[in-house]
Amino acid sequence: MRVRLAAISALVLVSAGCGLSSGQPESVADKETLVIGVKQDQPGLGLRKGSKYEGFDVDVAAYVAGKLGVQNVRYVTAPSAKRESMLQAGTVDLIFASYSVTPERKTKVDFAGPYYVAHQDTLIRSSDTTIHNVRDLRGKKLCEVAGSNSWRRVKEERKVAVNLVAGASYSDCIDQLREKTVDAVSTDDLILAGFAGQDDSIKIINAPFTDERYGVGVKKGDVAGCEAVNKAITEMYQDGTAEKLLKKWFGPTGLKVTLSVPQFEGCG
Ligand code: GLU
Repeated sequence: MRVRLAAISALVLVSAGCGLSSGQPESVADKETLVIGVKQDQPGLGLRKGSKYEGFDVDVAAYVAGKLGVQNVRYVTAPSAKRESMLQAGTVDLIFASYSVTPERKTKVDFAGPYYVAHQDTLIRSSDTTIHNVRDLRGKKLCEVAGSNSWRRVKEERKVAVNLVAGASYSDCIDQLREKTVDAVSTDDLILAGFAGQDDSIKIINAPFTDERYGVGVKKGDVAGCEAVNKAITEMYQDGTAEKLLKKWFGPTGLKVTLSVPQFEGCG
């Protein structure tokens, strides 16, 4: 019932084209505390250390929350397969978790940003001399993370006949690559750079083949919230914070990062 009421009030809001009606702060633009979903096992992006999370996504989230005037932020883990449902259920207010904007996801959630455009690339064992581009993945064992878009880019969009092997998360896929239960892990360069930087036995083939527009997941219909987040992202690029954070987290990996503000999706 509460969910239904919330859905109705969200609809009223959208049709009114303005902020939320009296009383309950529903939009993330009005909240005093925020629960933010991030990854917990992706070095450089979202990595859990004890009770804390660190990485580029976490720093961007903290910056945006600060610009929204929120002092109190709680981070929780948002695995790839749970991002839409966590936003829909209200378990989280926002998601910053290597979350690509896709048409399918846009039917369930809204996206502010993107705050960065990553590119899908492929990670293999350093000893492997047979894989140079996405086509070479034909007949190879490719790690598949549920709810992630990356395996679809290879198998469904590029129609490369890979053998998919399930991985619980990208860190699990990297373990499987080392253990040889998979031959390749194909996903965003930002994710791969974080892992490759730690280990000489694996390497990125450096053959990027997609644009992955990293959006901020917002509950469907929260146009005011989405616009407030976009304003914060614009400021993050204007005041030099984006450059600082990209260099902080990815400079040491050698990955070439883009320092200009991406073209926004637009809210609502
Ligand atoms: N950016 C891709 C996606 O949103 C892959 C990374 C991930 O699953 O977090 O599906």
